[in-house]
Amino acid sequence: MAEFHLAEPHSVVIIGGGWAGLAAAVKLTQKGHPVTLLESARQAGGRARRVAFANYTVDNGQHLLIGAYHTILELLNDIGIDVQQSLLRQPLNLTMHSLHGKPLRLKTPPLPAPLHLLFALLSARGLNISDRLSALRFGYALFRGKLFPTTDISVAELLQQQKQTDRLIQAFWQPLCLAIMNTPLQEASATIFLQVLSDAFLRQRRDADLLFPHHDLGALFPEPAMHYIEQQGGHVHLGMRVSALKIENGKICGVYIDNTFIPAQQLLLATSVRASLALIQGQKDLASLQANLAQFHFQPVTTIYLQYPPEVQLSQPMQGLIDGYAEWIFDRRHCGQPGMISVVISSHGPHMDESKEQLGARIAAELAQLFPHWPATRAQFVIREKRATFSSRVNINRLRPENRTSVKGLWLAGDYTNNGYPATLEGAVRSGVQCAALINSEIGQDTPDSFHSS
Ligand SMILES: Cc1cc2nc3c(=O)[nH]c(=O)nc-3n(C[C@H](O)[C@H](O)[C@H](O)COP(=O)(O)OP(=O)(O)OC[C@H]3O[C@@H](n4cnc5c(N)ncnc54)[C@H](O)[C@@H]3O)c2cc1C
Repeated sequence: MAEFHLAEPHSVVIIGGGWAGLAAAVKLTQKGHPVTLLESARQAGGRARRVAFANYTVDNGQHLLIGAYHTILELLNDIGIDVQQSLLRQPLNLTMHSLHGKPLRLKTPPLPAPLHLLFALLSARGLNISDRLSALRFGYALFRGKLFPTTDISVAELLQQQKQTDRLIQAFWQPLCLAIMNTPLQEASATIFLQVLSDAFLRQRRDADLLFPHHDLGALFPEPAMHYIEQQGGHVHLGMRVSALKIENGKICGVYIDNTFIPAQQLLLATSVRASLALIQGQKDLASLQANLAQFHFQPVTTIYLQYPPEVQLSQPMQGLIDGYAEWIFDRRHCGQPGMISVVISSHGPHMDESKEQLGARIAAELAQLFPHWPATRAQFVIREKRATFSSRVNINRLRPENRTSVKGLWLAGDYTNNGYPATLEGAVRSGVQCAALINSEIGQDTPDSFHSS
């Protein structure tokens, strides 16, 4: 058993070294609280981490960030990462291919928000006049703040209310909804969808930019974050699975790693919904939290990596496919991996019933149809994350907990807490940063506002 360094008198222990737990640890150490972070895996990063496949280093799933992810961008900056060097930033410029029909091409011109969106919709290629008018109607209503429903509805109902055409739904809204929320239109919460659209399209033009990491996900944030935390006097312990919490008289006392007890005055549970539920199971002080978390559903994400010869490339780092198995196609050239193409399929579907070999072959065949000049693949591998994200379904916000729990000294952080966002890196980091502010304020050195991102 490793030696644990706990700072007195206000020992903060964080369980979980995903992006939420690391974000909280960075912020707390920055404020002079040398936290102890316990992560069960042998590497940090949680659901956004590096994986090795034969001779290749990839991610457990292709991730995309957008310019509206301000909290992440500020945090990267805080720990000394040059954001311009680490992320390829591209204005929103999308080609949505079709195997059977016309592609859709959308390009945001260099105009201030939201004019860039309105002009992009007006000038989009592959839409007829009624598609464009229906898109404009939606964009204008979004701009006027008229779209947020008083009680949550599904994105499908919202699109119906806004009289969106079938073509627009199939070629634009459906892929966008899956990309943002990993939840199908019929189930997805309009409130959460509109929150992300408003952040991306209504403030600054750059918020709609697409950001592609130049490194694998481990190198982008988890590793520099761990280094920063240790440098600031905190401690990160990998391979340490917390097996139980100790709560007495409505107050957190500490955690167990098997038979070893680690005391804690402040304990931040920065684990996923399921892992959090397992740790709080049976705690009668947390009965309503258990009941809420038990109602979460989950969605898979499948990533297919195809290695082609290095000369193979896409004309944009990311393109879509409207009517195939593949949904989003990424060129990992910007990651230092020329010829490596990753394909993302969100949520459930017939692809989940195929073997990895069948699916890899099917996707390679679809790409051969789209790009007939491409040579054959040299290698392929498929990663299925069965519970990649919680389902951002209608009214899910009602079940999402706050950072503070009813047990004194016990806090929650993670993408699933009440942060307004779907299951995303930005949601996780927002939650961690906000929770750190609350803990810091509780142990008496600062006000919560001092942590807020602008
Ligand atoms: C395939 C895939 C694709 C995605 N694509 C995108 C995307 O394009 N853009 C985007 O923004 N988001 C995307 N996401 C979502 C994003 O990755 C998650 O929202 C985010 O990583 C969640 O971070 P978290 O810190 O809240 O939770 P987690 O990453 O789940 O972190 C929890 C950590 O707690 C640890 N843990 C659990 N139990 C214990 C225990 N008992 N003791 C100690 N440690 C424990 C776990 O090992 C884990 O490291 C994707 C997710 C997946 C899986």
